[in-house]
Amino acid sequence: MAILVAGGAGYIGSHMVKDLVEHGQEVVVADNLSTGHRDAINPKAKFYEGDIRDRKFLDKIFDNEDIEAVVHFAAFSIVPESMSKPLKYFDNNTGGMITLLEAMRDHNIKYIVFSSTAATYGVPEHMPIKETDPQNPINPYGLSKLMMEKMMHWADKAYGIKFVALRYFNVAGAAPDGTIGEDHGPETHLVPIILQVAQGKRKELSIFGDDYNTPDGTNVRDYVHVMDLADAHILAIKYLEAGNESNAFNLGSSTGFSNKQMLEAAREVTGEPIPAKIAPRRPGDPDSLVAASDKARNVLGWDPKYDDVHDIIATAWKWHSTHPKGYDDRD
Ligand code: UDP
Repeated sequence: MAILVAGGAGYIGSHMVKDLVEHGQEVVVADNLSTGHRDAINPKAKFYEGDIRDRKFLDKIFDNEDIEAVVHFAAFSIVPESMSKPLKYFDNNTGGMITLLEAMRDHNIKYIVFSSTAATYGVPEHMPIKETDPQNPINPYGLSKLMMEKMMHWADKAYGIKFVALRYFNVAGAAPDGTIGEDHGPETHLVPIILQVAQGKRKELSIFGDDYNTPDGTNVRDYVHVMDLADAHILAIKYLEAGNESNAFNLGSSTGFSNKQMLEAAREVTGEPIPAKIAPRRPGDPDSLVAASDKARNVLGWDPKYDDVHDIIATAWKWHSTHPKGYDDRD
């Protein structure tokens, strides 16, 4: 039996595919390559190019392949873009989930592991954030993902499709062997942007706001390594296969780092000066987002290996410094 990874050519999806393949798992990838890269897909995975909103495309995969579970990464994930193009997010993210769940129902596929996000919590009432805390997103990206969680809840009740929603905090890093990494066009995420400045591809880092309610005034986020995240998905599949109930887990490190601290850590890792300036706030950013992640550790047995942001940044730096043009540099 195979695992279907929807969005397996994207940043997190491609690391998931690599992790599954290295665990000896048969993997099928579905991706429309709108933001993903063909070269990011592990060669041992079987690739179907197409869109999860296309029911015929999904039917073809479920008819041809013996799929046991779906891991769903096929979504847009850029908070500021979602503020200016909300309907794009509801169409692809929320709309895509409707088609995917309908196809799963009709093909009797019972398990889905879903990329949810800390952005579903909005402005948290206390820190660290627990899974039971209120979910009131303040941007369309977070809302699109919360709606997807709720759809899975009702699809479980009606059709018995069991789900695990993994609420990611800030994902960073790359496969330690340097073969795959993060390559978004345009890049918006903090760690790759800092490293692009270190490489001389950008003049300076703009830190978006230093008047937040945090110790140094810059936003605080909780960084988790992409391979640790992939491991959590494998544990979530096992959890569902063992017959457990649907559930949601935070994936973070329980430790927050400010944007200024991340910059300092990257200076230490790269040895580069990395010029930076303070710029206006970016719409949609809560002050702090830090996960309580003991539930994933206790229930799934998740044991993240990267507990130091320097190590996370070092794996990202390995990828960026050997692939200055991202996947365009391959071969
Ligand atoms: N950020 C920044 N400058 C940049 C990119 C991001 O100051 O060029 C900040 C952003 O405002 C947020 C943090 O870095 O406080 C993490 O943002 P990112 O886009 O990486 O992830 P998000 O938290 O939106 O998922």
